[in-house]
Amino acid sequence: MKKIAVLTSGGDAPGMNAAIRAVVRTALDKNFNILGIERGYRGLMNGEVVPMERESVADIIQRGGTILKTARSEEFKTDKGKKIAVGILEKFQVDGLIVIGGDGSFKGAQELSKLGIATIGIPGTIDNDLAYTDFTIGFDTATNTVLDAINKLRDTSTAHQRVSIVEVMGRNCGDIALYAGLAGGAENIIIPEKGYEEEELCKNVLEAKLNGKVHNLIVLAEGIGGGEALAKKIQYVTGIEARATKLGHIQRGGSPTCRDRILASRFGYRAVELLEEGKTSRVIGIKEEKIIDLNIDEALNTPRKFDEKLYEIAEALA
Ligand code: ATP
Repeated sequence: MKKIAVLTSGGDAPGMNAAIRAVVRTALDKNFNILGIERGYRGLMNGEVVPMERESVADIIQRGGTILKTARSEEFKTDKGKKIAVGILEKFQVDGLIVIGGDGSFKGAQELSKLGIATIGIPGTIDNDLAYTDFTIGFDTATNTVLDAINKLRDTSTAHQRVSIVEVMGRNCGDIALYAGLAGGAENIIIPEKGYEEEELCKNVLEAKLNGKVHNLIVLAEGIGGGEALAKKIQYVTGIEARATKLGHIQRGGSPTCRDRILASRFGYRAVELLEEGKTSRVIGIKEEKIIDLNIDEALNTPRKFDEKLYEIAEALA
C-alpha cells in the first residue's frame, strides 16, 4: 500500500471533516501518499483529484460540512460510470480508497472493490440508519442541534400554553427523534418504527392539558408524516393551539460535538490501518464502544434492531 485516496459521498454530516483529517494524518504518519477526491463519485469520474498534506486538513476538525464536498451520481451506478472511475483510480495509481458516507456510498465502494480496487467505508450520516453500527458520524451533533431547538421551543410553547410539534429528519429511522425527544423531555415521540394513532395522540394532548401540563412537545420524524398537517389536526380536534416547526437542513450543519469528533478520528485511523493490513470491502463501525469492521455486504444486510427499551423509557418519563 503506497497511495490511498479519500472521498465523501451522499448526504453531508458534521464530523466528516474530522474523519478526512484522521485519514489524511494517519496515512501520512504511515508514510503513504494520500489524495483527496472532490464531489464524491461524480468528482471521481471527472478526475477531481487533489494531493493532501498535513496542512490540507488543518483547522477543519471543528467545521461542519466536508472540505472535499459531496455529491450524488446516477451515472456512477452504470457499468460505464464505474469503469471510468476505476480508470481514474488506476491513472493516479491509487492502491486503496476510503469512502465516507451512507449505505448508498457503501454500495458504490462494494462495486469498486469487485473491479479490483481495495475499498473501506466509514459511516457518515446524521440519520444513524446503518444497522451494523451503534452510531454513525454526525448523529450526535444532529441530535444535539434538535435538542437545542426543543429547549427553545419549550420556552415559547410554555409561554403560550401551546402544543409544539418539532419535525426532524429520519425517513426510515427514528433515532434522531427518539434520542432528542428523550433528552428534551418530549411528551410524545412519533417515529416510523412505532407508528401512531392520530385519535389516541389527540386524546393524550387533551388529557395532559386537563392534568395541568402547560405545554406539549411532540417530536415527529419526517418519515411518518408532516408536522403542519398534524398541528392542524390536533388544533381542530382538541381546540388547543398547535404549531409545527420543521428543522430541515439546520440538522446537517454546525460544529461537530466532541463525541462525533472522537468517533470520526477513531474511524479514520482504523480505515487506514485496514488498508495497511491489506483488507478490502470492509466497513467500520462501533459496537458497545469497540471499533469493529465487517464485510460491506454483511453490514448492509444486517437487520435493524430498534431500541425498544429506550422508547419504553421515553414513554414512561413523558
Ligand atoms: P445518505 O444516507 O446520507 O443519503 P448515502 O451514501 O446513502 O448517504 P446515496 O445518495 O444513497 O447516499 O448514495 C451516494 C452515491 O453512491 C450515489 O449518488 C451513487 O453515486 C452511489 N451509489 C448508490 N447506490 C449505488 C449502487 N447500488 N451501486 C453503485 N453506486 C451506488
